[in-house]
Amino acid sequence: MPHFDIITMVFMLVVVTFLLAGVRAIASLQAGNILGLKHWALANLCIAAGFSLSFIPQPLNPIKILLGVTCLALGQSLQYTGIQLFKYGQCNYQFPFWVTLTVLCQTIIFNFIYPDIEIRAMLNSLALAFTNGMCARQLLIRVPQPMRTAYWLSGFSFAALAMLMLMRFINLILAYPSNYTLFAQVPINLASFFMASIAQLVITFGFVLMLNYTLASKLEKLAHTDELTGVLNRRALFTIARKLCAQFARNGHSISMLMLDIDHFKSINDRFGHPVGDDVLCQFTKIARNLVREGDFIGRYGGEEFCILLPDTDLAEAMHLAERIRAHYTEIELATCNGDAICCTVSIGIAHSQAPIIDFEQLLKAADQALYQAKADGRDCVRVATPEPAKLNSKYKIA
Ligand code: GH3
Ligand code: MG
Ligand code: MG
Repeated sequence: MPHFDIITMVFMLVVVTFLLAGVRAIASLQAGNILGLKHWALANLCIAAGFSLSFIPQPLNPIKILLGVTCLALGQSLQYTGIQLFKYGQCNYQFPFWVTLTVLCQTIIFNFIYPDIEIRAMLNSLALAFTNGMCARQLLIRVPQPMRTAYWLSGFSFAALAMLMLMRFINLILAYPSNYTLFAQVPINLASFFMASIAQLVITFGFVLMLNYTLASKLEKLAHTDELTGVLNRRALFTIARKLCAQFARNGHSISMLMLDIDHFKSINDRFGHPVGDDVLCQFTKIARNLVREGDFIGRYGGEEFCILLPDTDLAEAMHLAERIRAHYTEIELATCNGDAICCTVSIGIAHSQAPIIDFEQLLKAADQALYQAKADGRDCVRVATPEPAKLNSKYKIA
């Protein structure tokens, strides 16, 4: 059985906590507009300062203990605020305020007025169990995937710390009065400091993973989204379309594609300026998004042209939807500029394919041809074109 020296363990805990405050501070530099990281770094700094002041024994005086325990409570509760900020983008500072005030008051009472180290240790254990439990709760509930793994890593560590503090509290009650000292070489003290060091590491690792997942999903969203309108960009749309077409060709489904082009859009830019044109494009897509069904994909093909993918939709349904979209735009105004209402119409080309002959390139080509036809027929109308069967790759041609 290894021998653990309590003072060495406290010393290691202080060093680890200081170092991890640095790690959290470095991580916060990469966080951009993601909130909470600075609170986590500050929290660890407070916790490390708290441990240094209240647990490193020589020379230990009541003022040091008071300051130390207050720093510890502030640090613990700031972690909660950081989690709130990270998760929801907002927080209130009532939690750290009340936790710190409560710990401060109980320490004053049982340090100066009715000095009793055991009662003080019991109440502080209870306060730590409560703050760690609250942090665990924030991290363990209502977290969607793929973030859950990282949240749960930190969450279960906080939960373990909360349980340990609760056990420390119960242990102190059962052993009371016992001439307890903070540095007594007893199992509950050894377990507390040992677990605290491990939990610090795992929690910080979890926090860094949480940041990593958040940054990765933000980047992924940026890579898939059209900056101006917020719909899928061309790359994302084509990737989805190619995948769906390949899948549907195998599984006996059908797919339709609408290609939409705003009529005479250039004249809107010319008359009202590009910013108004941008506004019209945003309004246009906002409305289109509301007109399509859930499960349909809308993306910007380029300029003022958009594509809508309609999985499992036959030609009659696609025509019906296209006509509904076209008619809708003739009735509404998309924006106003200096009191002038800005209206525009839309031309739509439709292509439809059925398994086993579904080829994305042919579908796109046909939708484009149909759109061209709609423009040629005077705009503000819907036209259909039939995709050519996909040409076999010469490699597979049978001689
Ligand atoms: P048509 O009815 O034949 O489609 O005429 P049109 O004027 O809509 O088409 P044209 O291709 O002549 O002009 C498209 C215009 O769309 C030209 C370009 O300046 C404008 N445009 C493309 N992208 C954007 C954008 O992101 N914002 C703004 N404001 N305008 C854009
Ligand atoms: Mg146009
Ligand atoms: Mg165009």
